[in-house]
Amino acid sequence: MPALTDHFTLANGVEIPKIGFGTWQIPDGTEAYDSVAAALQAGYRHIDTARAYGNEASVGRAIRDSGIARDQIFVTTKLPAEIKDYDQAKASFEKTITALDMDYVDLYLIHAPWPWSEHGADYREGNIAVWRAMEEIQEAGRARSIGVSNFSVQDIESLVGASKTVPQVNQIRYFVGHTQNEVTEYCKAHDILVEGYSPLATGAILDNADVRSIADKYGKSVAQLCIRYLLEKDVLPLPKTTTPSRIVENADVDFTISADDIAFLDGLVDTAR
Ligand code: NAP
Repeated sequence: MPALTDHFTLANGVEIPKIGFGTWQIPDGTEAYDSVAAALQAGYRHIDTARAYGNEASVGRAIRDSGIARDQIFVTTKLPAEIKDYDQAKASFEKTITALDMDYVDLYLIHAPWPWSEHGADYREGNIAVWRAMEEIQEAGRARSIGVSNFSVQDIESLVGASKTVPQVNQIRYFVGHTQNEVTEYCKAHDILVEGYSPLATGAILDNADVRSIADKYGKSVAQLCIRYLLEKDVLPLPKTTTPSRIVENADVDFTISADDIAFLDGLVDTAR
């Protein structure tokens, strides 16, 4: 089945389209609206946004105006990393749902285990508190699935040890040369879907000569090769582009990378330079 119309199935049975359209750094307004509209037009049915991206309103409007039934589009958004309090988490979800102008989201994630300005700090208790809010949001049917992002094995274990729900997803930075094997393998073993953000290293991998040499073998662009690499690993890619031709290109990834070439790509380091 073409990757664009195929899906993974989360531990709770929810189906999630295999390629998601990323919207980080796409300004609210015309740019976010037009790129989400173009992605939907190109056949994407999975959009990844976040309260922190500031573009939920435009994303929601583009989805509504598309004429595609709401239940045919998978919408992910995220609780800001700075919020580590139950009441604030509940309040933030209301803001999100109002901005998106939707009754529910398909996936709601804790954006990071720590506020961005305190990378690595211990917010175990705060994460447990906001997770309880998210469990209630899911139980109320307002988020079909819930998960985390940027969580390490330890972060996940702290959360799971103190709550009743295992995250259905962990969204992490993942690209050729940056595959975070420990947390990826842990997630797979615990039926937590790994979503790979920045599959093109936010653009930094596109000039890598080694990656290009493999892409050339298949007559594919570096971007297509990099996105396909994640699919070969059963990691859900979330490429971002505001360029209409690239929106189409990034979804045209129905080819197979040989085991030898995967092994070569697995061995690459420092690809994002
Ligand atoms: P990315 O997809 O790794 O790379 C995007 C960059 O590559 C842009 O500069 C884009 O340029 C360029 N590009 C895209 N397709 C291309 C192509 N076919 N040929 C040449 N250049 C191409 O970017 P990302 O935004 O870092 O990550 C993707 C998504 O992951 C985000 O949008 C967001 O949804 C998610 N994310 C999540 C987190 C988190 O903490 N959970 C963090 C980062 C990202 P143009 O747009 O100019 O075409």
